[in-house]
Order: sequence, then structure tokens, then C-alpha cells
Amino acid sequence: PERYLADQSAVVTGASSGLGRACSVALAKRGASVAVNFYHDADGAAETVRLCEDAGGKAFPIQGDVSSEDDVKAMFAKAVETYGTVDILVANAGLQMDATFTEMTRKDWDTVIAVNLTGAFLCMQEAVRQFRRQGMRKSRALGKIIAMSSVHDVIPWAGHVNYAASKGGLSLLMKSAAQELAVEKIRVNAISPGAIATAINKSVWSDPAQMKELMKLMPYGRIGHPDDIGEAAAWMASDYADYMTGNTMVIDGGMELYPEFRDNG
Ligand code: NAD
Repeated sequence: PERYLADQSAVVTGASSGLGRACSVALAKRGASVAVNFYHDADGAAETVRLCEDAGGKAFPIQGDVSSEDDVKAMFAKAVETYGTVDILVANAGLQMDATFTEMTRKDWDTVIAVNLTGAFLCMQEAVRQFRRQGMRKSRALGKIIAMSSVHDVIPWAGHVNYAASKGGLSLLMKSAAQELAVEKIRVNAISPGAIATAINKSVWSDPAQMKELMKLMPYGRIGHPDDIGEAAAWMASDYADYMTGNTMVIDGGMELYPEFRDNG
């Protein structure tokens, strides 16, 4: 593959599994050095590092809670100490704590907002500070930020109001930051995955009955694979996407196409 991210480095949060791992490996395949952030799963992060190295890039694991300002600062400091720069941020860490509307506890609400929304905000701030410190480098942009949103930044989701609110918020965080930072040649975009088979939705894809229901929402007729997202993230971080800022790439097998209208009328 063309190594269009050679001599650039990236921080990918929540990269011990799933989409964070796929983004890390895709960036590494294009030549980037990757700081592989993880929260609890050191073994998972070590596996991501190994896969990045197999793909021809450099990587190292770095523990940290994205909802902690101190951890985020330490994480970026460590990435800069190791690779000299941070050119790309993939703000991917996220989680669900599902409950019906009145069963949802304050803690369920606060944790999901803290990780999915505030965590992205804190990482984006640190990334922008670092982009400014290091100045123009190997890319037409001063720096690139990709936020991992969700189709639930536009599709309401009963039983998941904390998650949908966090992703809806993330979408306007991304757009507002993009509007503010474009003048400095900082690009801020998002990816909205539909349903990609990872740990976050294992209960769905490991159950044939739930899969059958899911396929009704999925015109393209298959669940997504993490690589469907990783490859897009690598492209979005590259100069091939230099004119893209403040926007969301929806990668969802057609979930946002109102599939229930297909056979209607
Ligand atoms: P996943 O559970 O495999 O990955 C989430 C990662 O975030 C995990 O590695 C987890 O350890 C990490 N994380 C959680 N809290 C953290 C914290 N406080 N600090 C640092 N890391 C933390 O699931 P995934 O599907 O790979 O999810 C990745 C992102 O993609 C999430 O933001 C999720 O909302 C989003 N997403 C996933 C899908 C999907 O279908 N899989 C769809 C839409 C959006």
C-alpha cells in the first residue's frame, strides 16, 4: 500500500479493540507511527501494537482514561516524547450504558457523556495545542482530527438516550471546532459507523434472532467489519482528504436510508 502517512504520528484512543484497533492498523499500514491508547485492556493494546508493526508501522501502548484531563495530558506528552509529534488524532474511545428512559441512572448518564463527549473534547484540545506547537510538517494540514461518532448522531435511539445525546453532541463539537480551526489549516471530521461487529454489540451479532432483526435495518445485507472503518480513517487523515473539514462520513451499509420505506407505496 502507498505509505501516504509516512513520518506522521497518530494518537488513537480506545485502541485495544474494535474500531480503534482497526484505525490504528490502517494508519500504520500507510506508514504512521501510532500511540495506541487503552483503558484497562493492556493485552488488547499489545495485540494492536503487534498488528501495527506487522503492517509496517511503529506503535506503542499507552494507558489512560480519556475522561481524565490529567491522563489525556500525560498521554499526549508521552506520544510527543516517543515520536516527536502528533499529526493525527482519532478520538474513538466510547461506550454504552443502556437503560430505559426512567431506569437510566445519573451515573449511566454521566459516564457515557464523560467518555464519549467530554473525552473527545479533552483529546481534541490537547491535539490542537500540540499541532500549534509543532507547526506545519509532512501534510498540507497543520493537523487532522477524526471523531468516531455514530449513525445515532442523527438516528434517535430508544433505550440509549445517553449514547445518542453523546454522539449528537460530538457531531456539533466536531463541526464547531472545524469552523473555528479551519483558518489554521486544522481539519476536523467524523466517521459515523452503522453496525460494525465489535465488542460493543457482541450481544447482537452473536444472536441469530437479533441479527435477523438488525438486517431489516441494513439495506446492504451484512454487518460491518472494523476494516470498513479503518481504511476510511486512514484516507480521512491523509492529504487525499485535504479539502474535507467539518463533515461526517457515514459508513453504515445504508442504515440511514430509511430502509422501512423501501417496500412502502
Ligand atoms: P469497543 O468496545 O471494542 O471499543 C471501545 C473502546 O473504548 C474500548 O477499547 C474501551 O476500552 C475504550 N474505552 C472505554 N472507556 C474508555 C476510557 N474512559 N478511556 C479510554 N478508552 C476507553 O467498541 P467499538 O465498536 O470499537 O467502539 C469504538 C467507537 O466506535 C465508540 O466510540 C463507539 O461508540 C463507536 N461506534 C461503534 C459502532 C459499532 O457498531 N461497533 C457503531 C457506531 C459507533
